[in-house]
Amino acid sequence: MGYQVKKARRATLLIRNAGQLLTLRDEKQIGPRTGENLSNLGIIENGAVASLGASILAVGTLEEIERSAIIDKTTRIIDAQGKVVTPGFVDPHTHPVFAATREEEFELRVKGASYQEIAASGGGIRNSVRRFRKTSNDQLMRNARRVLDRMLCYGTTTIEAKSGYGLSPEDEVRSLQIIKDLNENHPIDLVPTFLGAHEVPDEYRDNRQEYIRILTEEMIPRVAEGDLAEFCDVFCEEGVFNIEESRRILSTAKAYGLKLKLHADELSPFGGAELAAELGATSADHLVAISETGIDKMKAAGVIAVLLPGTTFSLGYDKYAPARRMIKAGLPIALATDCNPGSSMTENMQMILSLASTQMRMTAAEGFCAATINSAYATDRGEEVGSLEPNKLADLVIWDTENYKEIPYHYGVNLVKTVIKRGRVVYG
Ligand SMILES: [Zn+2]
Repeated sequence: MGYQVKKARRATLLIRNAGQLLTLRDEKQIGPRTGENLSNLGIIENGAVASLGASILAVGTLEEIERSAIIDKTTRIIDAQGKVVTPGFVDPHTHPVFAATREEEFELRVKGASYQEIAASGGGIRNSVRRFRKTSNDQLMRNARRVLDRMLCYGTTTIEAKSGYGLSPEDEVRSLQIIKDLNENHPIDLVPTFLGAHEVPDEYRDNRQEYIRILTEEMIPRVAEGDLAEFCDVFCEEGVFNIEESRRILSTAKAYGLKLKLHADELSPFGGAELAAELGATSADHLVAISETGIDKMKAAGVIAVLLPGTTFSLGYDKYAPARRMIKAGLPIALATDCNPGSSMTENMQMILSLASTQMRMTAAEGFCAATINSAYATDRGEEVGSLEPNKLADLVIWDTENYKEIPYHYGVNLVKTVIKRGRVVYG
């Protein structure tokens, strides 16, 4: 009986006077954006956003906001001064917990050595693993914090974070524990992924079956039962884990309730995309060498393609993932840094948008969509972040530009002015 008066709520924060407010809201397509919808940024000119605590209360013009939220002297007001305001970037593929950078391997590559040659001679991931095992939790935490601080000031507010430099039950748990601690103690939200199948460690080079047994019978059960990861990932590539091994590891993870990701088809069309489709993975990542069948199967299975142009750039290769073919085929794509000490040492999603434009022919609009709403879905956070809508987290970036198209175009600098995470100013 009776009726309910919808009470306006008091905003704790109001951002007003956004020349271009990129809401990333799209009435036409719920879920990851594809095809032409990848260009729908839901721009509101002269827009505003009100939040209450960590969550968005209202989005629109100032008049619209004042109808649904109370703005008074307790509300903190930020004037965006006609600049661009967007959701924070979601970086859906990172390896932020490592002991040391590997600039000496970068220089070997500059001089002509290949990534595979360096890996075969004991460098690469195994180099990182040896150093990780000798490094204290405190030091690993300090290193990862520096990475996360940089990500934040470049506009990233949520990341997926992988283990994968421990490669023993104790060291992988250590890595995931650090990710968990960072999630609780750093403004950035971290979505944890178990990547025990990043490489076969030194001690099992002659007995890889035993390492796969440890992965499936010891590590995955321990990670799942300890609630240490949400996703399981495998480096599925020639010379690392083959299709059959990847299928076994990922099927086990799935049976333990973990969601799936794959490093797939980075260097050769190996069938990783097809495997991601077969297993119902949330995403398949890299995909530089994906086959046409791989594209079709991923699309049919609803797998998101996470593209990592920073890796191709840092490795000095000239072949990038076929983003335009994927967009044309209707496959949802997301963008990530692949931040890691071996093949992509960057925390900067703005640079990734620049590479997406120049190397993969993606427009600024497509880049923003791929780095916010679609990357939110690629980390299974599409209901919480990635667009500016009531009840989503108040994760926003105020930019030092009046046109969002400047962001991929004006490269190698930081155009971020202010970062807001869960309704609090955390940078700028
Ligand atoms: Zn990676």
